[in-house]
Amino acid sequence: MDIRNLLIGKEICECSMAHKCPIDHVIIGEDACSSLPSITKEYSSILLVADRNTYRVCGEEVHNIIKEKISDVLIYQTDSILVPDEVAIDELEGKVTDATDLIIGIGSGVINDLCKIVSFKKGLRYFIVATAPSMDGYASRGSALILDGMKVTLNADVPKAIIADTKVLANAPFEMIQAGYGDIIGKYSCLNDWRLSACVYNEYLCPFVMNATYETVKKTVKLADGIREKDAEAIGALMEALVAVGILMAYVDSSRPASGSEHHLSHYFEIVGIERGEDYLPHGIDVCFSAIETAKVREKLLAIDDISAYEYSFDRADYESNIRRIYGSIADEVIALQNKMRWYDIDRVSIYKEKWAEIKAILSDCPTSAEMLALCERVGLNYADFTSLYGEEKIADALLYAKDLKDRYSVLWMNYDLK
Ligand SMILES: [Zn+2]
Ligand SMILES: [Zn+2]
Repeated sequence: MDIRNLLIGKEICECSMAHKCPIDHVIIGEDACSSLPSITKEYSSILLVADRNTYRVCGEEVHNIIKEKISDVLIYQTDSILVPDEVAIDELEGKVTDATDLIIGIGSGVINDLCKIVSFKKGLRYFIVATAPSMDGYASRGSALILDGMKVTLNADVPKAIIADTKVLANAPFEMIQAGYGDIIGKYSCLNDWRLSACVYNEYLCPFVMNATYETVKKTVKLADGIREKDAEAIGALMEALVAVGILMAYVDSSRPASGSEHHLSHYFEIVGIERGEDYLPHGIDVCFSAIETAKVREKLLAIDDISAYEYSFDRADYESNIRRIYGSIADEVIALQNKMRWYDIDRVSIYKEKWAEIKAILSDCPTSAEMLALCERVGLNYADFTSLYGEEKIADALLYAKDLKDRYSVLWMNYDLK
């Protein structure tokens, strides 16, 4: 799907929703930052936001290109990973004045999420100058934050411009490039979840957005060799795919086309890692490996011989003790979310029995775990890095309880219901 076509929007869609994406500029190419003077014409008091690394990589260049328009610069000084939490949000909010008329973020995931939420809260526009093709949130409305220790995605707004110099992207740490590829490859899993939820829960599904996302994933698979060789053209095409997926999320005002069970697993590893002070992998890499795990779950479910032998049952005491064991200090929030959803009160097993043939057809229309593994390995990702970091118990817990962090149905619920 060509980005220019996606930027136009789709007023009339078969899903009966009008799809819009108010991004004015997507400029991906060599020397993309030279476009800044012309696209910042209407602004005169710009707040530039970077961290030490992204300022060095391309923030300084941006600063020099539009020097007379920059009124202030925030360079996050953290030595470890910048976390998009209350502290980082306050720091950025404290830099916005009555005169600020635009925020320009220089970075990738975290800087983008911070600029997105703060510009939205302050009623400002923001641009993002991407430093790595590492995730698909550049063009989406959702801002992924960690508030009160929980991973939450708040609805904000899209950037007015996305600028990415392919030379900068190709020089990003290779792990970040692998992560971007992984974030896209994981869509095989979440698109399957979306279809599953449409079947089990009659959830809204836009066939146009679904097909356009599939098309983007298939195009990205073809880029794998070029990505491994850090070919600037392939990296630029990967960036376009990441932006396209973001726009498709904005089209349906939800991360549904891009985030399902594989993302819930990756969020679990991140949240539990932060809570326990344990290591976790970069987002898109976790997503890619987690999609191997969710493919295994689908295979396990497809191997069920007799669905009529299953009955719905729920042991609340056992459930709560597991949530407390796994989530520690954030267990109350996890339990409160699920109490609000009341999904444990629903007998889904009866629905599965009734629609089993249709469900099996959906579950089997997804790459197998062996195919997902091969897709990871094509860009040099080693599955053993994932299994040895987390270990069997943490992965088994994730497959049963990562779903509880979210208010979204996926194959993980089916895995729990039919355990
Ligand atoms: Zn639609
Ligand atoms: Zn993602």
